[in-house]
Amino acid sequence: MPFLNLGLCKPIVQAIEDLGYTTPTPIQKQAIAIIISGKDLIATAQTGTGKTAAFVLPILEIFNKQRQLRGKRIRALILTPTRELAVQVAANVADYSKHLTLSSMAVYGGIDTEPQKQRLSEGIDILVATPGRLLDLAHQRALYFDELEVLVLDEADRMVDMGFGAEINKIIERLPEARQNLLFSATMSDEVLALVDGFSDGAMSSTAVELSISPKTTTAPNIEQWLITVDKDRKSALLSHLITDQKWDQALIFIEKKHGAAKLVDQLSKRDIVADAIHGDKSQASREKILADFKSGKLKYLVATGVAARGIDIGELSRVVNYDMPFKPEEYIHRIGRTGRAGAAGEAISFVAWGDFKNLCAIESRLNHVINRKEVDGFPVRKVVPVSILNYVRKNKPPQPKYHSQDRAPSNTSATKAEHGPETRKNKNIWG
Ligand code: AMP
Repeated sequence: MPFLNLGLCKPIVQAIEDLGYTTPTPIQKQAIAIIISGKDLIATAQTGTGKTAAFVLPILEIFNKQRQLRGKRIRALILTPTRELAVQVAANVADYSKHLTLSSMAVYGGIDTEPQKQRLSEGIDILVATPGRLLDLAHQRALYFDELEVLVLDEADRMVDMGFGAEINKIIERLPEARQNLLFSATMSDEVLALVDGFSDGAMSSTAVELSISPKTTTAPNIEQWLITVDKDRKSALLSHLITDQKWDQALIFIEKKHGAAKLVDQLSKRDIVADAIHGDKSQASREKILADFKSGKLKYLVATGVAARGIDIGELSRVVNYDMPFKPEEYIHRIGRTGRAGAAGEAISFVAWGDFKNLCAIESRLNHVINRKEVDGFPVRKVVPVSILNYVRKNKPPQPKYHSQDRAPSNTSATKAEHGPETRKNKNIWG
């Protein structure tokens, strides 16, 4: 089914053809028509499914028909959990709207507010924002929400995990009740549903549609997942060995701690491998520069803490490495969703040390299968990692690392709900 059949006008279709998209992804096939019809939507779709275009394209279609904008007003607000995702989504909006006259921008923390205020003074059709900076700008009366038509919560589960629930509710209190609401989340946890329930009275129409595109328990089929059990003190040697031996062209390497990221970059450099790291302690400008270098291929190996890596979208990313296993299975799914995007093949490799056994059990229980194990010559393990128990239920709580103010601490809870199939919620107002 070509994009024209989805009710998108020629300038929009032209823009996506310019990007090389030929066929809509499953979420785009379903969501675009629903959003154009003006309905509210709750979609379970993980990153890499083409979800950004699924909500941006119909918004452009709706807005293109009627253009009216006053100073300091916005028509669509897209809330994202991180700066990197805000920048990424805004870049997508700019690409998709390049043949239209609609305006868009991203506002996020870590950079001067003045240029953002100046641009807002003329009004912006589509604003992508992180919650903290948006509230800051609203308090400074740099923007008003009275003409807002559409609210998008992108990666809602991540926003909840990062502790943005209260800020989101504060933003929602300021929005007009008559608006279209779109929520996208990789997982539909109790906390996300509570966020939906907390939305102000009458905000959600009784015909809100629920879509579930990729089952939250699985990952994209075109991602080859494998793991290597390794002693903790041999991880950097193993990584260097794989990079060199398997001639990796590119890798996004997830690591738990900021200081660990810097140390790993040093260890790699001692073995003549040039890598760089992004984490919350780096300035926004330096994070953006490193990301741009990684995307362009100038930098081949990027070490990133989970939070900093959120929102990274590199079309051709071939490989992610879990240098440290994440505590939450959702995090594992998010991370490996960085590769194998929109149909491309990808590889996700996890380094599993003896101490990661419980994390591995939780992840494999969520996937409902064990991850293929490979052995690498020269790396025998002293402490063997047993095979997982697939009905593992975790009793302990996640460790609580000290987070930088930009790297918000995740919450402890990760209960999830049963999957929702495509369904229209009739006679039930779930957003208020
Ligand atoms: P997202 O899930 O929105 O993060 O998108 C993942 C990647 O897929 C991005 O690099 C998009 O540019 C790309 N993409 C989105 N829609 C399509 C499509 N219909 N065909 C090919 N690539 C797409």
